[in-house]
This record gives sequence, structure tokens and C-alpha cells, in this order.
Amino acid sequence: MDIKALIREVPDFPKPGISFKDITTLLGNAEGLQYAIATLADHCADLAPDYVAGMESRGFIFGTALACKMGVGFVPIRKLGKLPAAVHTIEYDLEYGTDKLEIHQDAYPAGSKVLMVDDLIATGGTAGAAAKLIQQAGGTLVGCAFVIELKDLNGRQHLPNVPVIALVQY
Ligand code: IMP
Repeated sequence: MDIKALIREVPDFPKPGISFKDITTLLGNAEGLQYAIATLADHCADLAPDYVAGMESRGFIFGTALACKMGVGFVPIRKLGKLPAAVHTIEYDLEYGTDKLEIHQDAYPAGSKVLMVDDLIATGGTAGAAAKLIQQAGGTLVGCAFVIELKDLNGRQHLPNVPVIALVQY
């Protein structure tokens, strides 16, 4: 199935010159959504994760579906101040300024194998920070899965040496 054909490109969003990859059109397509999740699950099966962790907010959508498909639990990695119990926090650089991500300290038992999921990897800043956070919480990162990779930005350089899976590349 041609997943790329189901991803809408919106010019000049959120600012001029950016071609935004809009996954809502993929989400709204029943066969496309099922195919995307089934294919991610296939590619990640050998990693045998105990948990899938996904980043707010589009990582929640794909991550939860993937966790269900793989028969494991889902762990949310959230923006600052959203998680109610004790957290680990990481700060990371944005194009302008910084941002923070958090994970519950007791999200999984120490040594758990964790697969990270997000909709898209661009510069890799978000995914690189999430990878560190997963490890801070005692997890063993076994792989990173994305629906979309913006290849020219080489975001993979910010990830540790684990398998990186992307369904489509631009
Ligand atoms: P990075 O930190 O530069 O790799 O940016 C990745 C993060 O920004 C992910 O959490 C994405 O959801 C979001 N993002 C950046 N560009 C796009 C886009 O074109 N479509 C959807 N999400 C995007």
C-alpha cells in the first residue's frame, strides 16, 4: 500500500517555507491506518519490546495502536507538567529556545525493553531527548519507530545505536 499517498503535504505550515506532513489523512483512512500499524508491528516484532513509549501528542496515537497490536503496555512521554505522579524530566533544544519532556518514574520495571514511537523524526531533537528519558527511567531502549523520516535532516544521528524503523521517507 502507498502510505505516502495518504499523507497530506500542507505548504507553509506552521510557517512559510515548511511543507508540513499531515498524518490526519492517513488516520482517517481505515485500510491505511491498519496497514501502517500492522507494518510497524511487523518491522518491530524482532525487537520484542515489553512496552511501547510514545511522545505527546501524535506519538500517542500511533504508539497506543502499536502497543495494542504487539500485545504490550503503552507509556506516555508528555510535555512539562502534565503527568501527575513523580517524573523524570529532560530539557532539549528547539530551533528557538528549549522544551521539556517527562516520563513517570515508575512507568515500567527497571530493565524493561522499551520501543519508542513517534509520528515523525525531523532533526531528531525530540526523539534523542525521549531516548535519554526512557533510559533515565530504567528502560532498555530496543528501537525507535516512526511513520515518517525527513531523511536529509539526519535525525538518526541523535539516537543511540538501536534499530530505527521508518515507514516512509522524504
Ligand atoms: P524533531 O525534534 O525536529 O525531530 O521534530 C519531530 C517532532 O516534531 C515530532 O514530535 C513531530 O510530531 C513534530 N513534527 C515536525 N515536523 C512535522 C511535520 O511535518 N508533520 C508532523 N509532525 C511534525
